[in-house]
Amino acid sequence: MVVIVGTGAGGGILARELAKENIPIIIIEKGPYIKSKDAFNYYDKYSEDVDLLTTTCIGGATLVSMSNMVRALDSELHDYDVDLTEAYEYVEKLVGVHQLDDSHIGKGTQLFLDAGHELGLETLKMPKAILEKECIQCGMCAFGCPADAKWSGKDFVDEAVENGATLICEAEVTEVLKENGKVCGVKLIKEDKEEIIEDDLVILSAGAIGSTLILRKSGISEAGREIFFDPFVSVGGYIKDINFNTEVQMAGLVIGKNFVLSPHFSSFIKANIPYGGVTDSDILSIMVKTADECKGYVDDNGDVVKINTINDIRYLAEGTATAGFILEKAGVDPTTIGSTVYRGAHPGGTAPIGKIVDSNLQTEISNLYVCDASVLPISPGKPPILTILALAKRLADYLINK
Ligand SMILES: Cc1cc2nc3c(=O)[nH]c(=O)nc-3n(C[C@H](O)[C@H](O)[C@H](O)COP(=O)(O)OP(=O)(O)OC[C@H]3O[C@@H](n4cnc5c(N)ncnc54)[C@H](O)[C@@H]3O)c2cc1C
Repeated sequence: MVVIVGTGAGGGILARELAKENIPIIIIEKGPYIKSKDAFNYYDKYSEDVDLLTTTCIGGATLVSMSNMVRALDSELHDYDVDLTEAYEYVEKLVGVHQLDDSHIGKGTQLFLDAGHELGLETLKMPKAILEKECIQCGMCAFGCPADAKWSGKDFVDEAVENGATLICEAEVTEVLKENGKVCGVKLIKEDKEEIIEDDLVILSAGAIGSTLILRKSGISEAGREIFFDPFVSVGGYIKDINFNTEVQMAGLVIGKNFVLSPHFSSFIKANIPYGGVTDSDILSIMVKTADECKGYVDDNGDVVKINTINDIRYLAEGTATAGFILEKAGVDPTTIGSTVYRGAHPGGTAPIGKIVDSNLQTEISNLYVCDASVLPISPGKPPILTILALAKRLADYLINK
């Protein structure tokens, strides 16, 4: 019996691939089984010092993701004998990665793309896993898709269950049990009661913070002593009736040396604008995101302590300045351009390959694997879902062959 803990980017596809091969699996998810459109209710809360975006529900953070799908960390993973070429091809086809049809590129996004080109920046339409025929262009991607047009890990869990997997929701795995250095079960809490499930193999896909806590309780105390998460701000200003807030979000991309930029609506920008009567439909804004230096840690309560290095701050400043140039070229009133506070997304690197797991994602405990953002060796500084999906597909193939 195989236990998969968590149903996000890593857990969903593992469940699908193993269930397809008739391998008996139990999927254990801490959050509830919900409709995608309700996902915004399940954002997690961390300490006041850290504004980090993650969710606890079926599908994990994939339910609120923008479905941006890019390959990352190719050469870094090669250093650990991990070649994802075939796995990338498989998962790209499976989730339908493509650049959106022009019918789904809104006016604000097009202004961003044109301005980026004119400024000589590396500019492209973002590869996504969204079905245009379902997408109602409401701008609600980060709230959970009301039209179910986006791919999410939940889709794969549903498939796994159709193929015989057992799904237990609202159950928190706290510890992996072992005998003679080998996995023999997991301890979980459901409805305030502790239970034990016996099994032979466990894959932790509980996300960078969830997996850390389970690993530590299971005796791998070094987990989570480092963590990265991509710092980001949104920079934007006033452009009358642009209606960018109802476009598909993050449908364009500018790749800088130390940052990425993508058009992304933030209602917080309004607070910077001195005019009266400004509404959400008058805002064009850009998300500025950088790869951070993996300085910080997860404490024993699951709170994240983040240390910003000089490079983190410099790269964010470089990206912010470039976003300002793009906005001005796109027609935004330059006297209104301002930024939101700094936030974070995409936590990872808490059980990195080469330190906590080997190149097959196995820990020092035999038959205990980790497969989620925790295993990424450094911050990709780009959307990580596709890389996690490819790592999970590779692990599924390895386990099936084994
Ligand atoms: C608003 C937003 C937009 C994003 N957009 C994109 C994007 O467009 N493209 C992209 O590549 N990335 C995006 N990301 C990031 C991406 O969603 C995450 O990096 C990715 O989902 C991480 O995958 P994971 O498997 O590590 O964790 P998750 O997807 O978070 O899954 C972890 C799962 O484990 C469960 N869990 C946690 N602890 C336990 C426990 N103890 N027992 C049982 N279950 C547990 C959680 O409930 C969750 O279901 C976005 C993130 C956010 C917040």
